[in-house]
Amino acid sequence: MQNLTTDRPTFVTHLECGKTGTHYAADQLHGLSEVGSPLIVRYDLQGIAKAVSKDELQSRPADLWRYREFLPVRRTSNIVSLGEIMTPLIELASLQAGQGRLIVKDEGRLPTGSFKARGLCMAVSMAKELGVTKLAMPTNGNAGAAMAAYASRAGMETFIFCPDDTPEINVREIAAQGAKVWRVNGLINDCGKLVGEGKEIHKWFDCSTLKEPYRIEGKKTMGLELADQFDWDLPDVIFYPTGGGTGLIGMWKAFQELKAIGWVKGRLPRMVAVQATGCAPIVKAYDNQQQHAELWPNAHTVAAGIRVPAAIGDFLILDAVRESDGFATAVTDEAILSARDEASRKEGMLMCPEGAATLAAYQQELESGRVSADETCVLFNCATGLKYPLPAMDERIDLSEPVDFASF
Ligand SMILES: *Cc1c(COP(=O)(O)O)cnc(C)c1O
Repeated sequence: MQNLTTDRPTFVTHLECGKTGTHYAADQLHGLSEVGSPLIVRYDLQGIAKAVSKDELQSRPADLWRYREFLPVRRTSNIVSLGEIMTPLIELASLQAGQGRLIVKDEGRLPTGSFKARGLCMAVSMAKELGVTKLAMPTNGNAGAAMAAYASRAGMETFIFCPDDTPEINVREIAAQGAKVWRVNGLINDCGKLVGEGKEIHKWFDCSTLKEPYRIEGKKTMGLELADQFDWDLPDVIFYPTGGGTGLIGMWKAFQELKAIGWVKGRLPRMVAVQATGCAPIVKAYDNQQQHAELWPNAHTVAAGIRVPAAIGDFLILDAVRESDGFATAVTDEAILSARDEASRKEGMLMCPEGAATLAAYQQELESGRVSADETCVLFNCATGLKYPLPAMDERIDLSEPVDFASF
């Protein structure tokens, strides 16, 4: 509890348009910039470095609020928390190729069972700080669940719109956590349009991916945490399952901020954006040397969290991938499910399909030579595998018959 009972100084100076660099005032409610770009939160980084040391951070309880000075919430009383623990690094020794380590950062341990909790605990805390009472969002599942949970805890109303093919468990958990939720016979962008029109009429605050500035800051803590867990000597390669890209953009921002204050030195990790072959707009734009991605028609994949045909922060994802000397790559649904089975059978690590996509990508890119066997690679498993349909199990024992022990 200590991280949430101590007031700490905060260091946000302003917000900045991700495209033009135009400044926007801190401590005011903002959506997108005037040119329709995501807003990026900026800090007095030297002030942070003077206020807190690495040693002091590491002496605090191991949770997301350990990094308070790097985060936007001004008043501790506005923090809405469900216990955002530091997620563990799990080594997959039998699946690694050579001398390099293969490590899963298991985000499935977070509240609501996915890393969307990082972004939404920050967005809802900031909404509370800025006086918002009604939130709305289009979602493929996990983001809506996290928003419903944190908003209900903060006493806010939520209005959530899901495409028809959103996994049943997600729609139900959203409803169970107190949101008003609807299935829509359209795609995620149609749901986004409903939010856009409804917010004019009902004064909802739009929490769509990257349309409010603070989800990136929450997701940024994945990068801070990784640096902390690696004792400020970051891994060689990060494989990230990329939908809207908040996490990839956020982690890259964390590394820039740590580099600016000298806490990490030398080469930063190569950021690899992983998508599914049935929905790979970022991969296509990367391969074609484009700055923006085109809408991916008829998007489909078992990995619902990365089924995002158009990302508003596409240029920020592509910038981070290129600046880091990384790349973007797509894997088939078949490879995703086979990677999921392999990790759970051999290592007891049940990944979500999006997380399994990163393992499939690691295996594919070892073959292609874009990563080498002696590099340390981190895969992001972003939700608990238990939220997703699993293969059927039909073995039975009929106790009305003699049990055939020889058959076991
Ligand atoms: C949202 C989500 C993603 C994609 O994350 P972004 O940061 O939006 O790209 C990946 N996996 C799961 C399980 C998700 O819920």
